[in-house]
Amino acid sequence: MTSYDACIIGGGVIGCSIAAELSKRGYKTAILERGKAGNESSRAAAGLLGVQAEWDEYDPLFDLAKESRRMFPEAAAELRLETGIDIGYEEKGIYKIAETEEELHLLEQAAAWQTAAGEPALMMTGRELSEKEPLLTSALAGGVFYPKDGHVIAPALAKAYEQAALARGTEIFENTAAEELLVSSGKAAGIMVSGGKVIEAERIIISAGAWSTPFLKHFQCGMETYPVKGEMISVLSRKRLVHAPIYKNGFYIVPKREGRYLIGATVMERDYSKHIALNGMMGLMETAARILPSIREASFEDAWSGLRPQSSKGDPFMEEHPGIKGLYACTGHYRNGILLSPAAGKWMADLVEKIPAGGH
Ligand SMILES: Cc1cc2nc3c(=O)[nH]c(=O)nc-3n(C[C@H](O)[C@H](O)[C@H](O)COP(=O)(O)OP(=O)(O)OC[C@H]3O[C@@H](n4cnc5c(N)ncnc54)[C@H](O)[C@@H]3O)c2cc1C
Repeated sequence: MTSYDACIIGGGVIGCSIAAELSKRGYKTAILERGKAGNESSRAAAGLLGVQAEWDEYDPLFDLAKESRRMFPEAAAELRLETGIDIGYEEKGIYKIAETEEELHLLEQAAAWQTAAGEPALMMTGRELSEKEPLLTSALAGGVFYPKDGHVIAPALAKAYEQAALARGTEIFENTAAEELLVSSGKAAGIMVSGGKVIEAERIIISAGAWSTPFLKHFQCGMETYPVKGEMISVLSRKRLVHAPIYKNGFYIVPKREGRYLIGATVMERDYSKHIALNGMMGLMETAARILPSIREASFEDAWSGLRPQSSKGDPFMEEHPGIKGLYACTGHYRNGILLSPAAGKWMADLVEKIPAGGH
C-alpha cells in the first residue's frame, strides 16, 4: 500500500502550488486529480493579479493578496528556471474605469482608501486615460490606475506549478477521483479513491475547488464550496488595442501576448454546466465594443467557461480541522485563486509545519 506524508485532493493551481511547496520542504506528497491537472477553473481564468482592482475596502484577505502579488516576480523566475515555462507575468498595472460621474465618485473613494492603506492609486480624467490608452472610448468619465497590479497567463501558471511539483518529487494521479476521507483515532489516515483503492496519508488537504463540499462535511456544518460559472472570449488583433488590462465592475479586457485579448467574464451562481450561452457572449461583446470600439475589428478566436470555487463564508477556507489532526482545507478562492496561488502554497506548507503566519 502506498503511503504519503501529504495527499492533496485536486490538481488545480491551488493543489499544485501547495504540492510544489510541500515537496520543496521534503514532504512525500501526492495529488489526486479526478480528470487532468489544471483543466478546470485554473485553465479558464483571465490571470489578473488584481489586488487593488478587486478590493475596494479592507478585508483580511487583502493582506494575503498583497503578499501573493509581491511573490509573483520571484515565483515566475523560479518556475521558469525549474520547468522552462514562462507564465507571462506582467506588472503593467490595471486601469479601473468609470463611465458615469457616480461610478467615478466610487473609484475616488476606493483610491483614497488604497492610498491610505499605502498602495499607489492614480486618479485620471477621461482625457488622461485617452492619452495613455488612445483607443478607449472618449466618453469615459475617468478612472484610476493601479500600477502594482498585473497579470499572468493562467493555463501556463497551472502547468508550471504542476511541472514544478512533479520535478520536486510530487506524484500526481490523474483520472483518480477521491471518494472518501479516512479518519482513524481523530487523525487523518488516508483517502479511498475510485475503484476502492486506499492511499494512506498522514495529512490530507482538500483543494477540490468547486467540488470540495463532500469532503468539507468533516468540518463544521454548512461549510461548502459552490460554483460561480464564468464565460470568457478571446479575440486576436494585429493592432495594439490596449497596453494594460481595463477593468469595470467585474468586466475586463486583458491584453495578452501575440495580439490576444481576453474579454470576461460572466457570473452565474451554482451553475455546474460548461455550456456557453450566446446571451453571456453578447453581453461581453457589447460592453467591450462600447468601451473599446476598435475591438469590433478583432477576429474571434475562442470562448470557454469555468467554475470559480466560491466558499460559503465568502473568503477561502485555509485551515486545519480543529479536531481531526492532519486534515486541512484550502479551497474557495473564488475569483482570485490565480492571484492567491503562491501565497496559498506557502500558507498551507507553513500550517503543516506549524510556522506562525508571517514566520520564516
Ligand atoms: C472565467 C474565470 C475567470 C477568472 N479570472 C481570474 C483572474 O483573473 N484572476 C484570478 O486570480 N482568478 C481568476 N479566476 C478564479 C481562478 O480560476 C480560481 O480561483 C482558481 O483557479 C481556483 O483553483 P483551484 O485549484 O481551487 O480550483 P480548480 O482549478 O477548479 O481545481 C480543482 C481541481 O479539483 C479536481 N477535483 C474535483 N473533485 C475531485 C475529486 N473528488 N477527486 C480528485 N480531484 C477532484 C478538479 O478536477 C479540478 O482539477 C477566474 C475563474 C474563472 C472561471
